[in-house]
Amino acid sequence: MKLPYAESYKIKMVESIKRSKSFEREAWIKDAKYNLFNLKSEQVFIDLLTDSGTGAMSDRQWSEMMLGDESYAGASSYYKMKEAIKDILGFDHFLPTHQGRAAENVLFSVLVKEGDIIPGNAHFDTTKGHIEFRKARALDCTIDEAFDTTLDYPFKGNVDLKKLKKVLKENPKEKIPFIILTLTCNSAGGQPVSMKNISAASALAKKYDIPVLFDSARFAENAYFIKIREEGYQDKSIREIVREMFSHADIMTMSSKKDAIVNMGGFIGLRNEELFTKASVYNILFEGYITYGGMSGRDMNALAQGLYEGTEFNYLESRIGQVAYLGQLLMEYGIPVQFPFGGHAIFVDAKRFLPQVPREQYIAQTLAIQLYIEGGIRGVEIGALLADRDPITRENRYPKLEMLRLAIPRRTYTNNHMAYVAAAIKNVYDRRDKISEGLRIVHEAPIMRHFTVELEKI
Ligand SMILES: *Cc1c(COP(=O)(O)O)cnc(C)c1O
Repeated sequence: MKLPYAESYKIKMVESIKRSKSFEREAWIKDAKYNLFNLKSEQVFIDLLTDSGTGAMSDRQWSEMMLGDESYAGASSYYKMKEAIKDILGFDHFLPTHQGRAAENVLFSVLVKEGDIIPGNAHFDTTKGHIEFRKARALDCTIDEAFDTTLDYPFKGNVDLKKLKKVLKENPKEKIPFIILTLTCNSAGGQPVSMKNISAASALAKKYDIPVLFDSARFAENAYFIKIREEGYQDKSIREIVREMFSHADIMTMSSKKDAIVNMGGFIGLRNEELFTKASVYNILFEGYITYGGMSGRDMNALAQGLYEGTEFNYLESRIGQVAYLGQLLMEYGIPVQFPFGGHAIFVDAKRFLPQVPREQYIAQTLAIQLYIEGGIRGVEIGALLADRDPITRENRYPKLEMLRLAIPRRTYTNNHMAYVAAAIKNVYDRRDKISEGLRIVHEAPIMRHFTVELEKI
């Protein structure tokens, strides 16, 4: 018998989580204006809001915390992080930032100006936010296969090279400061990008003399999928694949709260010294001096250690295996989910789950609320609320997909928790015909509204 995967670690410390009753949750979510971000964590039993910064650090990472050097300038922790970035990702220069969006803010302050166009594969929401805040445009060039949740396609995060070429051809070079590859592609369902596609997209960008930026939050999960699914990579190690992936990037931004398995932190990786010098100015202005930029020494130490742990095959196999375990259970229950499963989350297709709810009533958010009331599980809407309004027309943007994302924190929950989640979703599914009405907005912010939006039941 082939031995199954099993976690490459055991548990040394545990944290209690509280169960509650559904009538309590109905009251809490009403008080929270039907926005799951407004709940207190103690009102949640299993928290799948995000896999960002919610993972469990290892004993080695906690040991590194004790070795942190809190010197303002030139701390050994800075050099430890620099060495790990050079070793694993191959970048000579880097700037620490307090998280991924801060890296975007610093870098885009140098590179993005009004009227610019930034093509890529389904830009992440903060990335898009930082682009649109500067009155530039993010153009989604993801392959169409990504938008069919039933289609079995191994690399649904891929860039459509024809769409990309069209953008590069039809716009002056001065208007395109860089192209973005998001690895894995969060907004498309944690779907990977193949090495072949990375290589072809960056070759195309090079042809037009445009730099390539990797939005790298889940680069290690992307490398795992390349190893498992792409021909020619079975015998390569995760670190070898990672080095090859990044050989195609000129710049990277990183939310270390994902694949570097820390609770807070990020960075920019660069090759060009002139760009590094320019970005340093903004890093000092917004984040902190260049050798700590928004991070404590101890956090830089834990991050460096996390980059090594996050790129171990056995860890990635159990991590992505757990996500697939949840996905498999849901499929067995007949629940419509994005397939193949992504690296960090299961995406429930809310349009197919609740076809009777009109899109103007926020289908995926309606489902997210139902799941919370059913089992105290907090997921997140990836749909019309997140898609926000068009910055020019101010009309609601309705994305092709309405998804309920169940993001799995790293090394945090057991497969029993996953079985509980699957059972709760099945219960909602069994009574789906009784859910006919959705939600309406009472209050919203002018940008990135999903975080603070207030809703009411129709
Ligand atoms: C999380 C994330 C970001 C933003 O990072 P934060 O650390 O949350 O600020 C950017 N891009 C992608 C793909 C992400 O997943």
